[in-house]
Formats: sequence, C-alpha cells, structure tokens
Amino acid sequence: MKDVLIIGGGVICTFIAYELSKTHANIVLLEKERQLGQVQTKHNSALIHSPVMVPPSKGVLKARFAKEGNEMYQSLVETLHIPHLKNGAYVLALDEDDMNELNDMLKEAKQRKIPAHFVSIDVVKQTEKYVSNQVIGALALPTAMTADTTVLCQTLAQKTKEHGAKVLTNRCVCDIHVADDGFTVYTKDGSMIKTKQIINAAGIHADDIAAMVETRVPYQIKPQKGEYMVLPASHQGMIKHTLFPVPKQNTKGILAIPQPDGTIRLGPTNTPQKSKNEALVTSAGMAKIKTSLNQMIHHLPYDQVVQTYAGLRSSLDDDDFFIERSKEYPNFIHVAGIDSPGVTAAPAIAKHVINMLLNQNTAIKKTR
Ligand SMILES: Cc1cc2nc3c(=O)[nH]c(=O)nc-3n(C[C@H](O)[C@H](O)[C@H](O)COP(=O)(O)OP(=O)(O)OC[C@H]3O[C@@H](n4cnc5c(N)ncnc54)[C@H](O)[C@@H]3O)c2cc1C
Repeated sequence: MKDVLIIGGGVICTFIAYELSKTHANIVLLEKERQLGQVQTKHNSALIHSPVMVPPSKGVLKARFAKEGNEMYQSLVETLHIPHLKNGAYVLALDEDDMNELNDMLKEAKQRKIPAHFVSIDVVKQTEKYVSNQVIGALALPTAMTADTTVLCQTLAQKTKEHGAKVLTNRCVCDIHVADDGFTVYTKDGSMIKTKQIINAAGIHADDIAAMVETRVPYQIKPQKGEYMVLPASHQGMIKHTLFPVPKQNTKGILAIPQPDGTIRLGPTNTPQKSKNEALVTSAGMAKIKTSLNQMIHHLPYDQVVQTYAGLRSSLDDDDFFIERSKEYPNFIHVAGIDSPGVTAAPAIAKHVINMLLNQNTAIKKTR
C-alpha cells in the first residue's frame, strides 16, 4: 500500500514528487507517456514569468504562486543545474495607451514588491536592434527567464528516485476504485496499485481522472491551443530579452522568446478547441503570429523557421488554478486547471500541496 500516488508526469507532478520524496511517505508517480514532461510542459514558451505578468485579477492563486515560484527559480535553476537563460523581459509600448497600461503595471509591481522599471526607447534599442519604429518605450522585468522544462522534469524525477520513490512511465491510469482504506488504481498495461491518497495533476486530462472517482466533477477542462514557430540557434542573440506586447484581455499576447539552447520561440496564439487529443499547427495560426510580431519587431527571418508546434492549455472557465481536496473523498487532491503560468508556479504549488498533505496525514512526516 502506497501513502501517495501521483497521476501525471509534467512539471507539476515531478515537483510534487520531488518535494514529497523528502518526507517519509512511500510514493509512486504514474505517467502515461514514454517520457516525462512531454505534453503541456514541453509545448509552451518555457518562460519563468515575472509575476508582473500575472496580476491577482487573473486569479489569486496564480498571482501568489507565480510570485513565489519566480523567486524560488532564481536559485533553483542553478542548484539543480537546469539549462536556463536569465535574460529578463521587455513589455513594449506602441502608443500612449500602452504607456498608460505600463504605468499601471509598474504601480502594481511596486505594491507587490516585484522588480520592474521603465526603459526609454534608446535603452531598448541598445540591445534590441530589431524592434520596430512603432515602439516608444518599455517596462523591464528583470526576473523573467527561460528554462529547459524537459531537463527540469527529468532532473526532479531522478532526485525523486534517489530518495527511494518510484517514477513509472508508460503507465496510463484507466480506472480507480474507492476502497475503505484508500483507492485501487488500474493502469492500461494491466497493473494495479493500492494507495491511501491520490494527487491528480493529469493536466488536460485532470477532469477525466476526476470522473473515475467523483460523482460530480467540480470543473471541466476547456483546452486553449497555442501555436508557435521556432527560429534556429544560428539566430541566437538576434533578440536578447523576451519581448512582450502590452497584454490585452485574456492573454499575454504573442511574444519572441529566446531559449537557453539559442533557438527563439515565436508565439503563442490562443484559440479554444474541443479535442484534447490533437494540437495541430494551422496556416491561420502562423499568419497571426507574423502579423502580431511585425508590429513590434522588424526583419524576423520567417523563411528560416526550423520547427512549428502547438500546445493545449488545460484551462478552466474560472481563471484560477483549482487546487482542492475532493469533497466526496478528501484523500483525493485535485491539482487542476494548471494553465499558464504553471511552469513558473510549479515549485510553489508543490510546497502548497505538500503542506496540505502534512497538515492532514499523520503517516507523512517531514524528514529533510
Ligand atoms: C501554449 C502554452 C504556453 C504556455 N507558456 C507558459 C510559460 O511560458 N510559462 C509558464 O509558466 N507556463 C506556461 N504554460 C503553462 C504550462 O505549460 C502548464 O501550466 C504546465 O506545463 C502544466 O503542467 P502539468 O504538469 O499540470 O501538465 P502536463 O505537462 O500536461 O502534465 C500532465 C501529465 O499527465 C499525464 N497524464 C494524463 N492523463 C494520464 C493518465 N490517464 N495516466 C497517467 N498520466 C496521465 C500526461 O501525459 C502529462 O504528461 C503554457 C501552456 C501552453 C499550452
């Protein structure tokens, strides 16, 4: 009998498993794919966002965990040896309305004690030669960075295993039975594991997993597709900072995002879609990326794009993350609706979930 079984092997689950493996708990993580972190955690911008981009109006938990997570990553990427690029971000203003928005963002940043400052167009142009003539100034966000999310998940899993816990891939959970002393979890390969507690962080499929246990699932995942194109590492240095437009309504906009390996990701779009099983790149998506970026940046070599891809955000109707115990079965914890900024928030979400477990379960004790 396991103390805790974690469903999913993205950045959220691997951080939770890593933190939990520092306790006395007997744990196992189950991931349906052959490798960890290959679904939402890979098909994204790989940005550790400045919390300025995640105001409390977008969700109280999102804002809190983005701030805590961003602070934790500043040293974590070095102690865990994760390839990263501490390059900061610029939010670019194209007109006076944008400048007013940046002013409001700066005020909020000061209130929340988040590093941010204005930079003139002359300063922007010293490093960003290709910004368009429409750009009139920028808000600098020095704590934004990018990190290799695949290496991150693999490293966390490796450390989890070194602490004696099990991390199993190719294990697709297909059914869960409720028992008096916990749950029995069945996987497609025919195995069965008994556990006292379950953490459900199955990303886009969190509601499908929840439906195996709950009479009424308290949320529904509504996938939002984000498409990208990628410039090769031969263009490393063409763009130094992550370049954002001023965020509008529900999205952070379409960005240029330099990566630790020298490539530059361009995107993402944001379109609702029904299917959870495909994330297709479309010509409309590619056109949207070009039109948006051309306002901010000149001479992007679209003819040299080496890769395109799309990811599905595991979004809910409610803007915020859903991190709660099941009301029906309190030993089942939902960590759902973890769309952006889930990578940024992951280490802080993990600490929060561990505290939920430590406060409730006498079998789980802190060791380190
Ligand atoms: C387009 C896009 C851009 C984004 N950009 C950023 C960004 O720049 N910065 C940021 O902080 N966040 C960003 N995000 C959000 C971030 O990627 C997610 O919040 C984060 O990856 C969520 O991690 P997760 O572990 O919950 O989900 P996932 O990475 O999807 O992991 C869930 C795992 O569960 C597994 N699973 C599902 N069903 C089962 C089953 N039945 N049995 C076993 N395993 C199962 C899946 O295979 C998967 O590996 C972006 C997301 C998208 C889509």
